[in-house]
Amino acid sequence: MGKAITLIPGDGVGPEVADAALKVMESAGASIEPDTQTAGIAALDQRKTPLPEETLDSIRRTGVALKGPLTTPVGSGFRSINVAIRREFDLYANIRPALSLAPGGRYEDIDLVLIRENTEGLYVGVEHFIGLEGDPRAAAESVMIVTRFGAERIVRYAFEYAKSRGRKKVTLAHKANILKCTQGLFLDVGREVAEEYEGVVDFEDRIIDATAMHLVVNPHQFDVLVMENMFGDILSDLMAGLVGGMGMAPAANIGKDAAMFEAVHGSAPDIAGQGVVNPTAFILSACLMLDHIGQGEVAERIRTALLAVFEKGGVLPSDLGGSASTQEFTQAVIGALA
Ligand code: NAD
Repeated sequence: MGKAITLIPGDGVGPEVADAALKVMESAGASIEPDTQTAGIAALDQRKTPLPEETLDSIRRTGVALKGPLTTPVGSGFRSINVAIRREFDLYANIRPALSLAPGGRYEDIDLVLIRENTEGLYVGVEHFIGLEGDPRAAAESVMIVTRFGAERIVRYAFEYAKSRGRKKVTLAHKANILKCTQGLFLDVGREVAEEYEGVVDFEDRIIDATAMHLVVNPHQFDVLVMENMFGDILSDLMAGLVGGMGMAPAANIGKDAAMFEAVHGSAPDIAGQGVVNPTAFILSACLMLDHIGQGEVAERIRTALLAVFEKGGVLPSDLGGSASTQEFTQAVIGALA
């Protein structure tokens, strides 16, 4: 019996990338038992709710979800289904690696990991309009929430991640020079946690805007980066751009009792159903899942096969300048498995 996982193929290109990842995992010898569930538009059509209780129950049971992109139906009562799942399971650490695999990246040999706080910051959505002189939307206000608890557990996660993988440095990116309370607290807590790892993992802190510039000019000076929610959202897309774009960006969302793995990209409605989506980001997300469930050797076999296909060239998806269909590319990866 393989490890039970919850599989949510998702909306738009989701079923296409999920199919590709399942075929690759099966061929690579992954030992998993997918329990297929729905969410998003697909669930609204079939179950009349975008987030069925059965889907949540399945994740509670398996503790691991591999999830395709979800479209949040307008008027469903959810701000975002993705955020609702992250909240339900308190998936506080969002791990976004950027690894050079394919041609078309700006640099070679990039191997960065951004660890983004996933539950606090401006994205808690505490915001409202303020009416003035007959204009109901004369102003708008949003609250950034940072707690000592939240800052400490994410920075600690970043250090433990670096330590357990032999990585050398953690960079904490912030805006404490302007946001003295919220970002100041995040930085202070970060410095306290860093002291516990002195001599094991190096630490530096940098202003977020300068970090963005340095990531573009000389990304190799970084290793593991940790920051609050919105900064992480923005910089992880920047990092995806360094290694070939959204088709190459995987993510893990980790909590104490559950973990969810997904590509960073959305449902790509403009290319859904055309058989041309690049499945690499989702396959790499599946690899992060395999690492998490103790099947890291299978994950490494898949990453090596992806690299071999990219190095050989010839069979590339269209977002990387090629003309291969999703199926042709998937078959090439399967063919390259050692
Ligand atoms: P998107 O990532 O779906 O697409 C942006 C562009 O990138 C499109 O042109 C698309 O064709 C292209 N693209 C994305 N992934 C690709 C891939 N793997 N291969 C080739 N091309 C790819 O972003 P969007 O258009 O802003 O969002 C579409 C929908 O997805 C929205 O409903 C949004 O809410 C949802 N979304 C979901 C998630 C998630 O489930 N985690 C994340 C982001 C967006």
